[in-house]
Amino acid sequence: MSKSYTRVASRRSETSFEDFKKAYTRALAVAESNRCLYCNDAPCIEACPTKIDIPEFIRKIGTDNVKGAARTIFTSNILGMSCARVCPVEVLCVGDCVFNELEAPPIQIGKLQRYATDMAFEQDWQFFRAGKDTGKSVGLVGGGPASLAVAHHLRRKGHACTIYEQRDILGGLNTWGVAPYKLRADSAMREVEWLLSIGGIAIETGISVGKDVSWAELEKRHDAIFLGLGIGADQWLEIPGADLDGVEGAVAYIERLKTGEVSLKDVRHALVVGGGNTAVDAVRELLGLGMQNVTMLYRRTEEEMSGYHHEWDAAKVEGGRVVWRSLPTKFAGKGRVERVSCTRLDTSRKPIKGSEFELESELVLFAIGQEKLADTVSGLDGVKVERGCIVVDEGGATGRPGVFSGGDCTNGGKEVVNAVAEGPAAAERIDHFLRGGSHA
Ligand code: SF4
Repeated sequence: MSKSYTRVASRRSETSFEDFKKAYTRALAVAESNRCLYCNDAPCIEACPTKIDIPEFIRKIGTDNVKGAARTIFTSNILGMSCARVCPVEVLCVGDCVFNELEAPPIQIGKLQRYATDMAFEQDWQFFRAGKDTGKSVGLVGGGPASLAVAHHLRRKGHACTIYEQRDILGGLNTWGVAPYKLRADSAMREVEWLLSIGGIAIETGISVGKDVSWAELEKRHDAIFLGLGIGADQWLEIPGADLDGVEGAVAYIERLKTGEVSLKDVRHALVVGGGNTAVDAVRELLGLGMQNVTMLYRRTEEEMSGYHHEWDAAKVEGGRVVWRSLPTKFAGKGRVERVSCTRLDTSRKPIKGSEFELESELVLFAIGQEKLADTVSGLDGVKVERGCIVVDEGGATGRPGVFSGGDCTNGGKEVVNAVAEGPAAAERIDHFLRGGSHA
């Protein structure tokens, strides 16, 4: 049975979404595997941040050794199931498959990885055991992909781990931030449970370190600390009417959709402000919930948008609209937003006089970035913060002995696979420190 920190509500708006990439049957998986050229110096491996031996696991699927394929995947990427679903493979492994140069369809690496890892969970295959107890303990702050990956590696080395998470459930972005047509919260929880089944990882949820537990107390409890803080709340434009009901942060909205219910009652038009991946996800999610009129408002051009173009192309096919080079200047309505005043911008992103226009909108989502969590670590002397990110060396060491960090709070917010990729190196460094080696 699920533990409370992996249990999500049964009624969630995200359950109305269909999986946008259908799972392979055995026959399709074997057929796709047998197309692979098993390249030497395979570019797909180089393109994968976790360096999974892709031709090796594909070869195993082709010979029906699915358990071996899953072992190969999880050995390099302990969150291989969620990464199979959420990785932007079009710009990573699949994008670099040699078939692209041959003008033939690239191998569907993500779908093959999903086939093997799904079967591992169905069959409850276990590949890893905790190491012999070292008597050392590590406190990991944040319960997202970075901390989970580091904790799992540390357990294989025999160190006790405790994860402190301020929410009630674990998983970080995989649970509350990933588009539901890629990964649902209950699937993310299944992966967390599988990962924690290695044993020896204690969980404390509802704990905000620095408030509920002081940093000094945490350092007293543990021999080393890992900061996997993730990234903070949505940023806003402070413009008139931004406090009206119906004006929300996109990340907060997506979290409610994934872990509970959202209502689109009385919402006929929605506006998403931004042009990054969160904005595009929000557009696709609102369309997926059945909204007809969803518009993205972005201050730059299509060529300049930071969101993945393949995702935006899909959003357009699904009915998403856009107004380029524009900004909202005011929200108006009686208690709830009804209208949005906007202005067009010139090439230097200055408002063009006389270009003002108005859009109807009963829901506005800000997707213009998230706050960095630099303030969180102000009680840790020696931990340096630059441009909102914790400064670490290659192994994740901060400037404070015994304190390490990784994931979004150090890289400013990248893919899940980037956070997982840093796990083994950080765990090696922490292990080295715990066994009497130097901190950095
Ligand atoms: Fe197979 Fe493509 Fe990777 Fe070559 S690059 S090993 S064909 S998946």
